[in-house]
Formats: sequence, C-alpha cells, structure tokens
Amino acid sequence: MPRALITGITGQDGHHLAEFLHGKGYDVYGMIKGQNNPRAAKLQEEMPFVELIPGDLADLPSLVAALQIAQPDEVYNLGAISFVALSFSQAELTANTTGLGVLRMLEAIRMVGGAQNNPIRFYQASSSEMFGQVRETPQTELTPFHPRSPYGCAKVFGHDIVVNYRESYDMHASSGILFNHEGPRRGIEFVTRKISNAAARVKLGLQHELVMGTLDAKRDWGYAGDYVEAMWMMLQQDEPDDFVISTGETHTVQEFVEKAFAHAGLEDWEQYVRQDPKFFRPAEVDLLIGDSAKAKAVLGWEPKVGFDELVKMMVDNDLALEAAKANRS
Ligand code: GDP
Repeated sequence: MPRALITGITGQDGHHLAEFLHGKGYDVYGMIKGQNNPRAAKLQEEMPFVELIPGDLADLPSLVAALQIAQPDEVYNLGAISFVALSFSQAELTANTTGLGVLRMLEAIRMVGGAQNNPIRFYQASSSEMFGQVRETPQTELTPFHPRSPYGCAKVFGHDIVVNYRESYDMHASSGILFNHEGPRRGIEFVTRKISNAAARVKLGLQHELVMGTLDAKRDWGYAGDYVEAMWMMLQQDEPDDFVISTGETHTVQEFVEKAFAHAGLEDWEQYVRQDPKFFRPAEVDLLIGDSAKAKAVLGWEPKVGFDELVKMMVDNDLALEAAKANRS
C-alpha cells in the first residue's frame, strides 16, 4: 500500500485529503503539533484510520523523525498559519511556519530520502493569495506575484523554494496554486463559513446580526473536496510541476451573503448585516479569478461543485449543526 504523510491534518484540507487517500488504499499518517492538541481526539474519532505523528513545521528534527516513522511515498504540506487576518498580527510566526516550514520539510526529505528508486514526492499548498494585487486577469501559473499580506509573502517564499529545490536537487516537488476553497469543514474565521453559520443562526433565532469587513472583495470560490483530488493528481505525474486550481468564476463577498441568507429563507439580508472597521485589513486583495486550463489539460482535473451548490451545501450544513446544538441545550 502507498503511504502518505500530511501536515495540517487537523485543517479542512487535511481532513478531505486523508479521506480521499484512505479511499484510494493509502496508509495515511498525519503530523500533529503541540502538547495535548485539542483537535486530536475529534480527529481520531472521525478518522480512526489516520496514524498521528507528533511534529511541528518550526522544528526540523521533528520533521525528520516524522518521515522516518511514516516512511511516506508522498508528503502533502498543508500545514500553515492559513488565516490572512491573523498573519498581520503574527507576521513573524506566519513567516516561520507558512514560509520557512516548507524549506524545513524539503530539507528533511533530502536527509531521509526515501527508497532508492522511489524518492519521496512532495506537494506544497501554494495559494492564490500570492497574486494579491493582481497583475493580470485571470491569473495563471505565469502571472507574477504581488502578495498583500504576511501570509501571501510567506506563501511566495514557500512556492519559490519548491521551484528552487526541484531545479537544484531534482526533487519530485510540485505546487498547487489553489484559489479559495471552502465547504462545511471550513474554519469559522473564514468569510464563507462565518456567513453560512450566521445565516443559519439568524434563521434559527440564535443570532441577530452579522458583523463584516468589506463586502466588495471578489474571490474564486471552489469546493475543498474537489481540490484535494488535484493535489493527489499532481503527485501521480511523471514530472513535477505547478498548477493553478480554480473554478474560473469570481463572486463578491456580498453575493455570498445574499445567496446564503436567501437559501436560509431570509430575503432581506441587509437588515442583518453591519460593517465594522475591525474586520477590514491593512491591505486587501480585491479580485481573484483563476485560469485552471493547464490542470485540465495535463491532469484532467475539473471542478465539480459550482458556486450556488457550494453556498447551499454550507448553509444546509450549518442549519443542521446549529439546530442539533440548540436541541441539545
Ligand atoms: P482569504 O481570501 O484567504 O483572505 O479568505 P477569507 O475568507 O478570510 O476572506 C475573503 C475575503 O472576505 C477577504 O477579502 C476579506 O477581507 C473579506 N471579508 C469581509 N468581511 C470578513 C470577515 O468578517 N471575515 C473574514 N475572514 N473575511 C472577511
């Protein structure tokens, strides 16, 4: 059976990817950080097939040890400080984990190597946030980067160091430049889940308003379940490369709010939404829209879930979760 090690196993993508690889017959190892990580128990309950290994992207020896234990054929580096807003207030930590963490994992892979004729393949979670103040529309693998946050800057470093190690040491290291991808497992701090959860809670009478930052930013939002398949496809190629993974559609934050509230049966969304400067960012990414033609041509990858379906999936999930919570209390 092939073996995979996933960093960021407790996050949205880690969960989807672990389930996907398990379905493909992989032995799945997940790297988990911290002492008595509160997410570990839930993760083991939901995915008992995942073998957890302690480790931290800020600690090279722990990465070497994790590789020695897992003996993976494939490493998926999804671990990061991934929330743009937090990256402004914890910029150094973001640079260390999200940026230098990639370098450490690449070094650990060089040290451990893998079986002689079967070198470890590496996937890096690059991000559309690297495009930031976009230089062209839509964005492709060739669009220059102009990050707008410490998170974006750290992801640019991670991306560039993957290219450099691939060229310098002939490593099978690929990056997926993933545009925003969402779903019921998205953390509540991200805008889509914040909105879907608020729409559900307002509908159920558990909350009366939704306090937001900008409503004008545009994002290319896809479904996380579709996107993890692209990660795996990249590592099955003979040659490593970089791929944009996106839907090719863009929508404003306001459209997400409108659709989510309407789906919850709340027609007049404006009466529930208020803006507060504390949710505005020092620098904003105004528009993202990706062209994933290369992924389609080379990998045969295409998104399956569209925008409307995504919004409905998330609102329905939050309606069910919040109703169940309310019934319990
Ligand atoms: P990002 O694209 O990685 O920054 O993903 P987010 O889901 O955090 O944010 C998407 C967009 O929604 C950004 O342009 C944010 O500025 C905007 N936004 C507006 N209000 C909020 C809010 O209350 N929370 C978050 N997370 N984002 C918001």
